[in-house]
Amino acid sequence: MSLSAKINTAVRMNIAKRRLESRKIESGAGNPLEQWGLAKIRNDIKNSKELKELFGNQELDRELINEYKLFRFRELMGYVMENSPYYKELYEKTGINPSQITKYEDLKNLPLTEQKQLADHPYHFLCVSRREIVREFTSSGTTNMLKRMAYTQHELLEIVDSVISGLKMAGMDAKDDTLQIMYPTITATWDPGLVLSKACALSGYNSVINDSLDADEQIKTMRESGTTIIIGTSSFLYELSKAARELIQPGELGIKRIICSSEPLTPSMRKEIEEVWGCKTLRQWGMTELGLANAIECVEQNGFHLNNPDFLVEIIDPKTGKQLLPGEEGELVVTTLRRRCMPLIRYRTRDITTLIEEPCTCGACLDQRISDIKRMTS
Ligand SMILES: [Zn+2]
Repeated sequence: MSLSAKINTAVRMNIAKRRLESRKIESGAGNPLEQWGLAKIRNDIKNSKELKELFGNQELDRELINEYKLFRFRELMGYVMENSPYYKELYEKTGINPSQITKYEDLKNLPLTEQKQLADHPYHFLCVSRREIVREFTSSGTTNMLKRMAYTQHELLEIVDSVISGLKMAGMDAKDDTLQIMYPTITATWDPGLVLSKACALSGYNSVINDSLDADEQIKTMRESGTTIIIGTSSFLYELSKAARELIQPGELGIKRIICSSEPLTPSMRKEIEEVWGCKTLRQWGMTELGLANAIECVEQNGFHLNNPDFLVEIIDPKTGKQLLPGEEGELVVTTLRRRCMPLIRYRTRDITTLIEEPCTCGACLDQRISDIKRMTS
């Protein structure tokens, strides 16, 4: 790389760092992911004349956050009606406009977005010129439908920002920890290792990528790098743990947290992993279409904390489409409130879960959480 290219990269990194809300969160100031979410919402209110008039300097509570999300929803709906060929046609046909969405229950008057529609016509969802796209990712997820999603630079930075907050919630500390990133089996063009190492680089954390399937290799890297936190797919971490049982004593390596992502983690898998490494596991949930890192457990292991400012979520009966109450099991439906490149409105995730209303025992009381996630089979 030439000197001027190096300087340009350094300048861009510095600008990116300054924009990261997660860097400003002090450890010990409550749940970092919740604090990050609240900071994002407060910033939005500060920067919007209409939101300022609506909310002023009121302390944020659940009711206000719900109002804020409905406001963002209406704004997003207006935006996609102007910019997304898919939603423009859909809402014109339905004859509905944003001013008719004043409460949560009104959302049910809008059609759901099916995964097949996104898979069949990805660019009908595109709201910006192709020049603004910096990365495109495809993912088959669990449905064998190839879905393509595009992101702008600003959106990627927002994703990285939420990832850093999630890592902070998992106990990552800039000075003492190293994250070992293990995604040997991922074949999607979205590389989680890349996003994670970028997040670590921007936030001053140490990270090391090892994509070997070999347990000896992984353990060698742990020893050499002083790894304290591990992230990888649930099935790989389970297999690694079974192999490591023969190679190490529990707790010997000083691993303090293991983040299991991309796949379900059964209670017996969790038990095996926790026994081998002598530490807690946290489950992480995300979909490529929604920005990958969408929710993560805290050490209380009491449901997944969602990235609060990013999503408006609903639980519906998958057969009838009826909105369900917190505690009732149904399909998770997500609206991506902050996306501008390819926003999704009322997107069917085909994942079954419940919404948890009670505050988490970690102290977070404004975050929305979801319970165990099961995949829809039909
Ligand atoms: Zn919690």
